[in-house]
Amino acid sequence: MEGIREVLEGHRQAILAGAPCPAPEAIEADVLARLGEAARGSLRAVVNATGVVIHTNLGRAPLSAATLDAMRHAAGYTNLEYDLEAGERGDRYGHAEAPLCRLTGAEAAVVVNNNAAAVMLALAALMDAPPARASGPAGPATPLAGPPEVIVSRGQLVEIGGGFRIPDVLRRSGAALVEVGTTNRTYLRDYEAAVGPRTRILLTVHRSNFRLSGFVHDTPLEELVELGRQRGLWVVDDLGSGTLLATRPFGLGDEPTVQERIRAGADLVCFSGDKLLGGPQAGILAGRREAVLRVKRHPLMRALRVDKVTLAGLLATLAHYERGEATAEVPVWRAIAAAPDASRARAEAWRGALGDLGAGCAVRPSRSAVGGGSLPEVTVPTFVLALPGGAPDALLARLRRADPPVIGRIEDDRVVLDPRTVLPDEDEALLRGVREALKARRTTDGP
Ligand SMILES: *Cc1c(COP(=O)(O)O)cnc(C)c1O
Repeated sequence: MEGIREVLEGHRQAILAGAPCPAPEAIEADVLARLGEAARGSLRAVVNATGVVIHTNLGRAPLSAATLDAMRHAAGYTNLEYDLEAGERGDRYGHAEAPLCRLTGAEAAVVVNNNAAAVMLALAALMDAPPARASGPAGPATPLAGPPEVIVSRGQLVEIGGGFRIPDVLRRSGAALVEVGTTNRTYLRDYEAAVGPRTRILLTVHRSNFRLSGFVHDTPLEELVELGRQRGLWVVDDLGSGTLLATRPFGLGDEPTVQERIRAGADLVCFSGDKLLGGPQAGILAGRREAVLRVKRHPLMRALRVDKVTLAGLLATLAHYERGEATAEVPVWRAIAAAPDASRARAEAWRGALGDLGAGCAVRPSRSAVGGGSLPEVTVPTFVLALPGGAPDALLARLRRADPPVIGRIEDDRVVLDPRTVLPDEDEALLRGVREALKARRTTDGP
């Protein structure tokens, strides 16, 4: 109603200002367009032409076709917590555990809402008692004179974005944070010196969205695991993005894989479902059986558990890895693996399809970022379509008003569109948006 009133008021003002009275059909079309916008709601699909593969503001990982199918099917009734053999209540967490163990080599695994939840749960669940393997002769643990302690390197006390700060998460979980080492270098002896009677957890955190370079030393996870074993401590690894594929063949440097962190012996490795894994938003905890069991039994688990639709999507995404087809089927990996020549061919095709609107466009080399708080400053070569120059901010804004909105970026004072992150079936939508934006510019900015 308010929308209709606003449209009519707009026309009234225009007429009062001397504009000719529009035809009733034109007014009707305006009203319908406004109502359409209102019905659509504010959350919309967009074309990501930024070249940032895992773009947190644009919803991180786009999902594979099989993942979407699986999520649609799971939206009805499912055997989420029902054992079809026995005809009785089944294990909600079992569905994802088997494939996660096969893929990562972990003894056990469980899925929660996101990685922030996974880290919180890991700390909360392991804080209460030391690992059984370390308790030696059975008997009640002596009560601690103060809160249990978690040891973290000063070089890993990071803010991940969206206010997820490791020191804050730790304090909220009821633990005391013990910082060791320096910003750039932390050695095993720093951890050793800090272990006391209240120490429960050695925590490592992937720096994710920033990079230390130069005079840097991180204590290898293997050394922390050994220290944990000697002193009866849990070792938790917040791996952040969590890749299952080796990154070096794709020109992304050496990211530790989940499998490597499990093999190094961490009790729990925590990682996201929607970063380099390329699935729906989820947090995964994988590691030793005893640790995962404690997580499953923690009261917070119920509050942070994953829903059936997400779980189905995650399973379908994991199946791509199990079938060895991740780089062909998981959109994040397809984008990362795309050759620069493929980007060039697509950018050329876009320019061709724009006809004379494409006159001032240029196809030129650039770099795409992996992004998403996963691999800072890691870029891969690409080609982009640079749109005609002048007032690039205004042109970006016009592209954002397209339906669907097209999100580009500015490079050297020109709007550029990177084919790497534009999904295979989005070329037409992108071209429609670009045509409208360039035409609108012609009419308002002159030839
Ligand atoms: C991204 C990230 C998180 C948060 O993960 P979400 O899945 O966004 O909740 C936590 N820790 C690290 C190291 C990260 O990179």
